[in-house]
Amino acid sequence: MSRVYNFSAGPATLPDTVLAQIRSEIPDWKKTGMSIMEVSHRSNEFMMVLEKTAQDLRDLLQIPEDYSILFAQGGATLQFSMVPLNLAKEGEVADYALTGSWSRKAIAEAAKYCDVNVVADSSDRNFTYVPEEATWKRNKKAAYLHYCANETIAGVEFPFIPDSGETPLVSDMSSTILSRPVEIRRFGVIYAGAQKNIGPAGLALIIVRKNLIGKSSSRVPNLLDYSVYEKTDSMSNTPPVFSLYVAGLVFEYLKDLGGLEVMGNKNRRKAEKLYKAIDRSSFYSNPVEENCRSWTNVPFVLHDCSLDEYFIDAAARNGLVNLRGHRSVGGMRASIYNAMPESGVDVLISFMQEFERTYG
Ligand SMILES: *Cc1c(COP(=O)(O)O)cnc(C)c1O
Repeated sequence: MSRVYNFSAGPATLPDTVLAQIRSEIPDWKKTGMSIMEVSHRSNEFMMVLEKTAQDLRDLLQIPEDYSILFAQGGATLQFSMVPLNLAKEGEVADYALTGSWSRKAIAEAAKYCDVNVVADSSDRNFTYVPEEATWKRNKKAAYLHYCANETIAGVEFPFIPDSGETPLVSDMSSTILSRPVEIRRFGVIYAGAQKNIGPAGLALIIVRKNLIGKSSSRVPNLLDYSVYEKTDSMSNTPPVFSLYVAGLVFEYLKDLGGLEVMGNKNRRKAEKLYKAIDRSSFYSNPVEENCRSWTNVPFVLHDCSLDEYFIDAAARNGLVNLRGHRSVGGMRASIYNAMPESGVDVLISFMQEFERTYG
């Protein structure tokens, strides 16, 4: 079967050129006579990959020198635990914004260790908006302030970076990292699982201001301790070599395309087109407040939900797959990360218009 347009929220589509490069390099990587999955992670060849991957990420996001880049396993979910374990003391207060399913999970995990103060909560309107920052009820003693920059499930994205003052700001950027430039200096910690906008699952990135590392209790296990990752260049044990290798190829690809300004313009265009098509019709709708609609995850519902299955089947027959919305939201969701070409969005919009003509 030929390639489809894959609108999955994650694991998500990867660039064709990256897949082609992987395919060509698999049997004999860098003239080692082995694949990347078979070489020693302590070999010079692999160490160079790791170093270049971190440097390319630093270049792309313009990460200042006083921030470390750490690579871990356990996805973004493990960071729900590592953030409190590294930034707070047991029982200390941590501020969290509750704006959707992912921040809810982060809160539940932090609450095992910290005293979580929920500064804002948008569950009253089904997580379709971001509460205005002026209404947030912050705790002055909080060890940090955590928010999820883009709630992947409901398609809600913060239209602002919270002003946390002296309190370290922590953000789950799993579904928007690298979708456009971001001002790293505003943050204490940024983390992201790889399988949305970076590469294969099994890898999480943590960008952390160096002066926040080394504060965890001595009882925190090594593999949950940022300082261990920092000291060992994320190689305290065998890292996920294949995921790191592919992430490195994706970073090279993004640099070749012109970096995050270029990606940002492209992503804005893709999202604007799709929302415009949804708003123009009375057949489709998106429930999210306009100022916080996600650039990367676009949920939409059909005016008659009994047509959902027809829509999903017909779309798949046209090479447009994984459009089913998250089970907690229903309807459809088109995830249009960096690797989704603009042509994929164009084909989706044409398909939606054709479907509306037939069933509307
Ligand atoms: C997917 C996702 C997660 C969970 O990621 P895992 O890598 O599966 O742990 C957490 N936060 C956000 C915003 C996500 O999109």
